[in-house]
Amino acid sequence: MKKKTVVILTILYMFFLGACSASGDSQVPATTDNPLSKTGEALNTSISISLYDSKDESILNGCFELIKKYEKMFSRTDPDSEIYALNEKGRADLSPETYELLMLGLKYSDQTGGRFNIVIEPLTSLWNFSSDSPKVPSETDIKEAIKHLDYTNIAMNEEGQKTRVALGDKDSGVDLGAIAKGYIADKVKEYLLEKGVKSALINLGGNVLLVGGKPDGSDFTVGLQNPFGDRNDYKEIVKAKDVSIVTSGTYERNFTENGKTYHHILNPATGYPYDNGLVAVSIISPTSVEGDALSTSCFVLGLEEGMKLIDSLPDVHAVFVTEDGKYHYSKDYPYNK
Ligand code: AMP
Ligand code: MG
Repeated sequence: MKKKTVVILTILYMFFLGACSASGDSQVPATTDNPLSKTGEALNTSISISLYDSKDESILNGCFELIKKYEKMFSRTDPDSEIYALNEKGRADLSPETYELLMLGLKYSDQTGGRFNIVIEPLTSLWNFSSDSPKVPSETDIKEAIKHLDYTNIAMNEEGQKTRVALGDKDSGVDLGAIAKGYIADKVKEYLLEKGVKSALINLGGNVLLVGGKPDGSDFTVGLQNPFGDRNDYKEIVKAKDVSIVTSGTYERNFTENGKTYHHILNPATGYPYDNGLVAVSIISPTSVEGDALSTSCFVLGLEEGMKLIDSLPDVHAVFVTEDGKYHYSKDYPYNK
């Protein structure tokens, strides 16, 4: 059975939006105590944006339009998207944003020795975790799909404003799913700052980005989902301003077949979900694209290598949860004091 869980929700957000997380867009009028919020479905998940220092609904609508614009560019399943065109035809002219995101995906693919793999699309399409009734693919299909995951087999050509990309292997394909939400969250933040908003909370399906702090200058409070608990069961609390908090977890998207649970972060070497003892990795970082890329990268690297990577980066903190229920914190982790 498909389980699409919002990984992280702010406690404050739950407080006043608990009753209106229905499907479709909905707006909650601002009161003196509450922010102005809008929830909806996009990017294959639940989205919510809350403005704490503005009552301008057109700004919220602008955020949702921006999210939909980027979804239309980055989606691997929307036949009108740039990535769909690239995967279908094997070549495409990409917009600067899609190109930038692909480059970033290639950087993390390199950095993880291909365990994070930006051309994982043949495998993710085969498993199709976002379908209504995902199934374990046949061994033959898996073996075939993993032959087409060479991320170094991409040709790039920049000509003025145009960036032309070609897949060396026509059966290969780009999947930006591991980094797109973070990138889009950063773009929404940029837009909010341009509009003069200084206190807001962006939640793209658990990819949380804080704009400033609360209007009184205090921290926002964000709960990290307990990977072993029910939805909205928070084990760890992060109090912070102006940071991104992103989690990659086995419980985000998964299904169970013949008593075994399969999750959505796939090992390009085997064609099956990673089975390395990790159940969740949360990254707290200045930008959300970095947090999103790192959460998936650390997940695929495993506890030891992933933690080493985080400890080498300034201003980035992490919480790794292993299947024995233990929590592991990066060096000088400041949020559990
Ligand atoms: P996240 O939830 O950010 O960790 O990203 C998971 C998503 O990234 C999946 O739903 C796939 O779209 C994609 N993905 C799955 N496995 C990999 C992988 N090994 N490398 C890069 N992207 C992946
Ligand atoms: Mg990610």
